Amino acid sequence: MVQTKAKGKRLQATKAIKNDFAVLWEEDPLFVTIPLEKLRIVRGSMACAYCGKAFQERGTVEEKRAKGDIANESDRSKNRGLPGTTSCLAKGCDARFCDNDCRQLADAVHGAMWHNSGHTKIKSSDWKDFEKFCVSHHWNMGYSYGVTLLTLIKSGKNDLLREKFEAMATIPENKRYSKEEIDDLHLDETWDEGYKLLKKTVGKIYDFSFDEFLRGLGTFSLNNYNGNLYELQSHLNHSCEPNVRLAFSDGKNRLRVEKMPEATINANDELEMSYINSDLDYEERQELLLKHYGFVCSCTKCKREAKTFAVIEIDSETGYIKPPPTSERSRRKSVRFNDEPLISVSKPAIKLAVAVKAN
Ligand SMILES: [Zn+2]
Ligand SMILES: [Zn+2]
Ligand SMILES: [Zn+2]
Repeated sequence: MVQTKAKGKRLQATKAIKNDFAVLWEEDPLFVTIPLEKLRIVRGSMACAYCGKAFQERGTVEEKRAKGDIANESDRSKNRGLPGTTSCLAKGCDARFCDNDCRQLADAVHGAMWHNSGHTKIKSSDWKDFEKFCVSHHWNMGYSYGVTLLTLIKSGKNDLLREKFEAMATIPENKRYSKEEIDDLHLDETWDEGYKLLKKTVGKIYDFSFDEFLRGLGTFSLNNYNGNLYELQSHLNHSCEPNVRLAFSDGKNRLRVEKMPEATINANDELEMSYINSDLDYEERQELLLKHYGFVCSCTKCKREAKTFAVIEIDSETGYIKPPPTSERSRRKSVRFNDEPLISVSKPAIKLAVAVKAN
C-alpha cells in the first residue's frame, strides 16, 4: 500500500504478475452483513444467520458431507431437514449457521440481533424495530451500517477493527445524492428515523452523532463489496480498464483478487479494479462514478474515449460548430470550440460523433 497525494491510498504490485487469473491475494471480510432480501430466509432458519448463505444452495449438503462436517446431522429436532448446518446454542433461538465457524464469528453481535444474550445493554427488540424499518424502506445501506456498528461496538473503542474502518475512504451519505434525489426519495426522513432507531438500540453503550452516522453510512456505501467490507480490497482504486478482478473463493464471503486476463501488471504498477460495469459507454460510466463515488474518472480508457465520444453539432448553413447547449452534462465536458470549421459539410448534417481535442 502506498500513500499518494493525488489519489490517497493505492495498492501497487511489488513484482510483475504474468499469469492470467493469478491469485494476488485472498481475504475474509472485516465486516459481514446480510442483504435485506435474504433476511426473511435467515429469520426462517433457511440461511446462515452469519454469512447469509442459503442452505438450499446446490452442493451445500454434499460439500459438507464430503468434508465430514456432519456433526449436527442427528440434531433432527432443530435442523429442519438441513443436515450439516448447526444451530445457535441459546435456548429458543431459531438461528442456524453453515457451520461452527460461522456460529463463532457471529458471536455476541448475533445475540443483540436475536435474543439479547451477551449484549445485555442492547435489546434485541430495539434492533428488530430498526431491522423492520430498514426492510420496509428497502434500506440496505442502513441495515448494513447497523450491523457494522454493532460489530464495532462489540470490538471495543480502541480496537484495531475501528481503526481499519476509519481508514477507509468516506463521503457523508447525504453528499452522495443531489438535492432532488434526497427530496424525491425522502432520504432525509429515512436518515432521521433510521438514526433515531439505531441510537435507541445502541445508545446505552455507544453515543454517536448524526454526522458520525452519515459518515459511517458513506464509508459502508463506498467500500462495500457485495454487502461486506474487506480491508485490503477497499483500498483498490478504480479504473474502467482494470488489471485485477474479484471472485468469491468458498461459496461464502472469502474474496479472491486475481489478475484480469490479458492485462499487464509490471512491478510498481497500480492495482485497479472496476467499481462499475466497465463495458458501459463513456458518459454512463462518468455519470455513475461521479454520482455514486464522487469522482471524475480519468483512467486510460476514459482519456481515450473522451476524445471520440464528444458529440458536436454542426451548423448546416455555415459548416461551423454550433455553440454548446447549456445542459449540465455538456458543460462538464470541456470541449474546445474553434473558430475554424473542423470539417466541411455540404449536406445538412446535424449531430456527429467526431474526434475532437478534449482538455
Ligand atoms: Zn441465537
Ligand atoms: Zn455461514
Ligand atoms: Zn475511466
